[in-house]
Amino acid sequence: MANSRNYAKELDKIIGGLPKGAAGRRLLLHSCCAPCSSYVMEYLREYFDITVFYYNPNITEAEEYWKRAEEEKRLVAEYNRQVDEGVFSGMHSTGAARRIDILEGDYEPECFYEMAKGLERCPEGGERCFGCYRLRLEKTAELAAGLGYDYFTTTLTISPLKNAGKLNEIGEGLAREYGTVFLPSDFKKKDGYKRSVELSGQFGLYRQDYCGCVYSKAAREAKKESGKI
Ligand code: SF4
Repeated sequence: MANSRNYAKELDKIIGGLPKGAAGRRLLLHSCCAPCSSYVMEYLREYFDITVFYYNPNITEAEEYWKRAEEEKRLVAEYNRQVDEGVFSGMHSTGAARRIDILEGDYEPECFYEMAKGLERCPEGGERCFGCYRLRLEKTAELAAGLGYDYFTTTLTISPLKNAGKLNEIGEGLAREYGTVFLPSDFKKKDGYKRSVELSGQFGLYRQDYCGCVYSKAAREAKKESGKI
């Protein structure tokens, strides 16, 4: 049966009941990269004390992994500078915005390769990706529970190429397993994806043209070679 839930509306209902700018409501936000997190941080920073958790063992090439990690840190620093100086531009950007912390997970691509065994040939959006979502969300849920965060969620639902229903289903299952709370989302809605492209331009962010793993990179290169993109 098709999933008819509207996760964007569910999130709006939750945050609609929260006062803006109030301290002490802590959100652990898994982030895949700076461009995807740009809109999500802008959207949520008035409601939560956000800690960005950069944990992405799926980025199988070390140079690419560290490049995305550095961009994430640079963007968080830019947002914190806006808060410190009280100078904002654009949507969701008022004096109620709060500073953001960042936590870096371990770089452990071997965990990704272990998960992907037998799924190497799956197309993007298939079973390998579901395992990849779970890998990253499980570490986030575990950390959120251990460190007493009020909520956890992920930036991944901003991508039109990711399965938001599956991401929310995995997040909610992990929340039950670890005894924490998953914040539902479909960040691409309400022009969220479009806004992330605008913000990437505004901050001059590096935007990769493939998802992250060696398989997604090979698929991208094959498409380029065949002239499909
Ligand atoms: S294509 Fe992206 S989501 Fe899918 S397994 Fe690779 S890195 Fe993970």
